Amino acid sequence: MYRKLIQIGLVYITVGTSLAQNPATSLSPQFPQDSDNITRIVGAAMTRGGAATFLETLTDSVGGRVTGSPECRAAAELILATLKRSGFETTHFEEYPMEARWQRGPATGQVLSPVTRPLFVGSYAWVPGTAGLIEAPLVDLGSPASKEIAADSGNLKGAAVLVDPHDTADSPAFVMRGALANELAAAGAAAMLIPSDKPNRMVYTSAFGFYPRGPLPVISVAKEDALFLRRLLAKGPVRVAFDIQNSFDTSPAKDRNVIADLPGANPDEIVLIGAHFDSWDPAQGANDDGSGVAAVLEAARVLKSLGLKPRRTIRFAFFSGEEEALLGSRAYVLAHQSELDQLRAVLIMDSGAQAPRGFHFQGRTDLKNTMGDLLSPLAPLGANGFSLAGSFDQDHAPFLVAGVPAATLWVDPGEYDVHHHSITDTYDKVDPRMLALDTAVMATAAYTLANAEQTPGRRLSQAEVTDLLKKAGLESTYRMVYRSGTLEKGGPYTPGCRRTGITPAVTPSQAWIAIAGEKNHFTGGTLRDDLPI
Ligand SMILES: [Zn+2]
Repeated sequence: MYRKLIQIGLVYITVGTSLAQNPATSLSPQFPQDSDNITRIVGAAMTRGGAATFLETLTDSVGGRVTGSPECRAAAELILATLKRSGFETTHFEEYPMEARWQRGPATGQVLSPVTRPLFVGSYAWVPGTAGLIEAPLVDLGSPASKEIAADSGNLKGAAVLVDPHDTADSPAFVMRGALANELAAAGAAAMLIPSDKPNRMVYTSAFGFYPRGPLPVISVAKEDALFLRRLLAKGPVRVAFDIQNSFDTSPAKDRNVIADLPGANPDEIVLIGAHFDSWDPAQGANDDGSGVAAVLEAARVLKSLGLKPRRTIRFAFFSGEEEALLGSRAYVLAHQSELDQLRAVLIMDSGAQAPRGFHFQGRTDLKNTMGDLLSPLAPLGANGFSLAGSFDQDHAPFLVAGVPAATLWVDPGEYDVHHHSITDTYDKVDPRMLALDTAVMATAAYTLANAEQTPGRRLSQAEVTDLLKKAGLESTYRMVYRSGTLEKGGPYTPGCRRTGITPAVTPSQAWIAIAGEKNHFTGGTLRDDLPI
């Protein structure tokens, strides 16, 4: 890493020159100082240390912050106060409803026979507890070929079922996980046990596919303990016991996003960069996604402190509800549908603070030339890579569904997966120099896209989005996310975010049609927010 920084300094000078040689890359006569501004942005982001300082406050004074919890509210307050203190007077909350809040309780597990031994376990989130201590025979389904449980899976009724959901050709493991949980519950299983893929007997947690309420207790079992259980089972019957004490609160509740703007010369045109401030509770949510929040917040402060006024407005969005079902970003898209035609680009940071490589543009081949050009100033930072990789597990996804050009920051994997959703996602796991570098990339990308003469990208039609999701293999995840927890469907609440004091402009059905931009999909009746796939 150290070597890379030195390299950066040197290379930058040459690229400065190459920028001049390449007029297409946003060096418009109206904004001749772009490369100078980019030098100032990168310099400030790399040297101020503001992202690391903010992250330390977030992790150490707020800690783990599950959506709907007091900690999540405190995080939103901290972000709002910090931005207001930095001159973003218009920073505000945008609320959205939650269908249920969830709280983790103590979780214990043990083998009862043939030997008595404690197990290292943890509960998935937004799933029920065991309603007291349960004892059950252990059944092992191994790694099923598909989401459907084979008819000959033996007697699952009342059993604790060990099973390994995994990626398949058309869907990531968490889609299979959600589907298998429904199948096991339908078969009357007492609990679903999923071997953790973490090292050192660590367990995992997630709510994807379970929000607002999973169908049965779903328990992460330490990898070493799952191997132990399978060795015992190979020799004869095994009985296990679990006591998981989770709780739900289905009383009306809301969480919120935090939104701040750096107004542009043309305030209606917007470039949005964002991250999510909700996290899991076993640790501090430092990498996921405290690092993204800190980088986006510091990028805002850097751009503000330099007195920059780009061509388009730069919007800084801090979402909650991401870990449950992209709740905050979905609510944002619904509430801001009248602006989506003017939303020129969305960049999300949510893969940890490792070395930046570029952005994943979700199968949007049509963006390659323009974005490749516009992001060329990131070359000296090693971050002008254009990838077509797609995913549906970050806050870019609702924008993707709405056809808006949306990308996620592409970083080296590093140890992100080790700490992801585990007890070790703590402040000390984030390298402040990499965090500063990612801040520089997010700030520079936002500025160059907001200042570009040409429009970074166009909004796709609903039919093109449907095609894109199919091609990118994102259909099943889209279905799972958009049908878990309905922000849009009826109920006591009108859809979308409610900017405190401002009622949303549209009814649900209008919302959908506006988003799709095509009138042929929705035929009245109850609102369905899904695409015809
Ligand atoms: Zn995340």
